[in-house]
This record gives sequence, C-alpha cells and structure tokens, in this order.
Amino acid sequence: MQVFKFGGASIKDAEGVKNLASVLHKVGYNNTLVVVSAMGKTTNALELVIKNYFDKTSELQSSLQDVIKYHNAVLIDLFDNENHPIFQKISLLFKELKGFLNTNKSPDYNFVYDQVIGFGELISTAIISEYLNGIELKNSWIDVREYIKTDNYYRSAHVDWEKTQKLIKSNFKRSVLNITQGFLGSDSNNFTTTLGREGSDYTAAIFAYCLNANRVTIWKDVPGVLNADPRYFENAKLLNKISYREAIELAFYGASVIHPKTLQPLQRKEIPLFVKSFLNPENTGTRIGKEVMLDPMIPCFIVKKNQVLIKLSSLDFSYIVEENISEIFNLLHLYKMKVDVIQNSAISFSVCVDNIYNNLEKLLHHLKAKFKVLCHKNVSLYTIRHYNDKAISQIEADKTVLLKQLTQETVQVVTK
Ligand code: ADP
Ligand code: ASP
Ligand code: MG
Repeated sequence: MQVFKFGGASIKDAEGVKNLASVLHKVGYNNTLVVVSAMGKTTNALELVIKNYFDKTSELQSSLQDVIKYHNAVLIDLFDNENHPIFQKISLLFKELKGFLNTNKSPDYNFVYDQVIGFGELISTAIISEYLNGIELKNSWIDVREYIKTDNYYRSAHVDWEKTQKLIKSNFKRSVLNITQGFLGSDSNNFTTTLGREGSDYTAAIFAYCLNANRVTIWKDVPGVLNADPRYFENAKLLNKISYREAIELAFYGASVIHPKTLQPLQRKEIPLFVKSFLNPENTGTRIGKEVMLDPMIPCFIVKKNQVLIKLSSLDFSYIVEENISEIFNLLHLYKMKVDVIQNSAISFSVCVDNIYNNLEKLLHHLKAKFKVLCHKNVSLYTIRHYNDKAISQIEADKTVLLKQLTQETVQVVTK
C-alpha cells in the first residue's frame, strides 16, 4: 500500500490533471491512495469568498463566480463533451455551496470557513476521479470526511486518532485505486473541519499511518526538499536524504515544502516519505527516513516573511517571570498566534509570531493593559540549521538584526 499526495500547484489546470495521470502511469498505481488538494489557488479564492460573505460586500457574487469560472475552464479542457455528467456534478456542488451561504445562520467565522473552504477539495477530487475513470484509470472517489474524524476546533482541527483508525481499518478498500480529499475531516456532528492550511500532506500521513502503508510520496514543483526555498535563495541544493528528526525540525521552523504535522505519524511507524518532482517523476528526489541525518550535510535556510516581533516589558518594576509569562502565553493561545521564537531577560520578553488569523490588534490591545509594548510588523525570521559563520553573514548582510538566538544546531535571526 502506498499513499500519494498531489498539491494545488500540480493540478492547477487541465495540463496538471493530465500530468497527474501520466505520473500514475509512469510510477504505477497498484494499491494506491491518492490524496489531492484544491486546484491551484482555489483555497485562497474561497477565503476571499468567505471574507466577502462576512463583510457583506457587493463583491461576494463576483468572487464566487471567479471560482466557478476557473473550474469550468478546467472542465472544458479536460472533457470534450459538455454533456458529460461531471459538468452536472460540479454545478451541483457549487449549488450546494451557494445554498449553504444563503441559509447559514452561524456567526462563527471559523465554522463557516470550514464548511465553505472544503468545496475546493470536493470539487478537485470529483474532477480528477472522473477524468481518470474516463481514460481507463479506474478508481474510487472517497469522501475523506467519512474516515478522518476530528474535534470541532474549526480551521485547525485535531484528529481523533482512535475513531479515525477504526473507520479506516474497517471501511477502507485497499485493493483499488482510491482518490480522496486532503485537508478535510469531520466532527462528531458530521460538519466539515479542516486540518490547517497546507494540511493535505498531513492527510496523506494519517492514512499511511492507519493503513500501515509502506511509503508516502508527495509530488511537488521542485526536485525534492532543497536546503532553501528556491523562491528566495539562489543555488538551492537538493537534499538526498533527511532523517525524520531533521525533517521535523525543518518543517517546524517553516520549510513550507512539508506540513509540520506530517512527519511524526510516519516516524512512529517508520514509513519513508519521498518528496519528488511531478515533472520528473522518475528522478529520486528526497527520501525522509530513519537512517541518515542529512545528506549532504550543508546549512539549511528557512525564511518566514511578514512576521511580527513583540517586545514586552513591565509597566512597574516587576520582573518578567512565571506569572506574567503564563499570562502572555494564554493571550497568544487565545488569539491563535503561532509563536516562532521567544527570548526573555529579567525585565523584558520578546516574542516573534506569525499573525495567521489576523488577531494582532486585539492581542496588542490586551497586552497594552498589562505591559509596555513595542511592536515591529513585517519582519523576517531566518532560521539556519547546521549553520556556519559564512551562512550567518550571508543572512545578516544589509539587514538590521532585531533579535538573534543560537543553539548548537540552529540559529534564528529576526531582521528588518
Ligand atoms: P503544494 O502544491 O503541494 O501545496 P507548495 O507550493 O505548498 O506545494 O510547496 C512547494 C513549494 O515549497 C516550492 O515551490 C518551494 O517554493 C517551497 N519551498 C519552501 N521551502 C522549500 C525547501 N526547503 N525545499 C523545496 N521547496 C521549498
Ligand atoms: N488546499 C489547502 C490549502 O491550500 C490544503 C493544501 O493544499 O494542503 O491550504
Ligand atoms: Mg500547498
């Protein structure tokens, strides 16, 4: 049993879907589960629909229309005959989405978000499954929400491993080619939940774990895991082999090529993860397993742009100790801030955060009641694993360093 994951970039248009089929032909698809994300930037486009819905803007209809048009263009390119049942199927899914928006009474942004955003994956998998069946790549479309059960922490739901494992073990049919949605799950009331942005890699790992798969492959627009994001660094080099632990560190610090939650379930069962190019599927790519720490052993660079550095100090003469630190963390948790780095001294506390859910102003307002607050927006956080002097000076050149932290294997630098 093997699990494949195809992300949005790999299926951004009809060519991408055809290429997915060609990858399956080239590398084989026996006993394979294919986990698929929404096409291209559909998730971002649906996020805009949700925002317009809540802001009650006049752009709601046109933003929804953009998503419909985009998928229609893919359908027309993939299916010659406009009487093909897939056109009806996709139009029904959009009808269902509109029906939800028209009848929804919930004011809960996160709940509504999950109910709407899930259509991206439901639609992409319906299209791909039909297309593959049409070219004799016979497969079963499965609704992932019948397998992955979660709590109702919408937009970042936690997997109920016990229920999920039971459902997959008893209901999943292994011997056929299965196509399913990444990123989605469902709660105990069967409402759609999501596992966090970019969560389809994690879906692949959940299935691999529950099915005791012997490998997972995520197909990317890069040759594998590189020692830096090629969008920001020239001459990024392919990493041939990485240990689970090293990959967990890289993903945790923000190497966005793998979702950070993906690796631990695989490590637990020692299931190797391959990251390969969907353009050159025969190339070896990167293998993540238990054997080698990092091959080649070179500095690895990770950058997170648009972060926020908050420096707190006390309004009176008190020290920043357990009591206030626990209060600070409660607030960070309350406003769903993703904490990147912390640094404290006797009278100050610095924290670099990712303001994913746009709660910064609320957080600052709350903090200002208790602390003196200094905030730098739009800073960059650089992390270098296995650093050396040359790597550090390369990062620091022409930048103002606002915070720096070194451990034996890792240096983190916040710059403006
Ligand atoms: P998906 O289509 O699966 O969602 P993503 O776009 O999320 O794919 O991930 C692939 C992208 O990750 C690459 O195009 C690359 O820009 C970026 N990336 C970030 N860090 C790395 C890295 N260390 N190695 C390779 N790619 C990286
Ligand atoms: N479609 C979702 C996203 O863009 C999940 C994923 O692609 O992994 O975040
Ligand atoms: Mg992605």
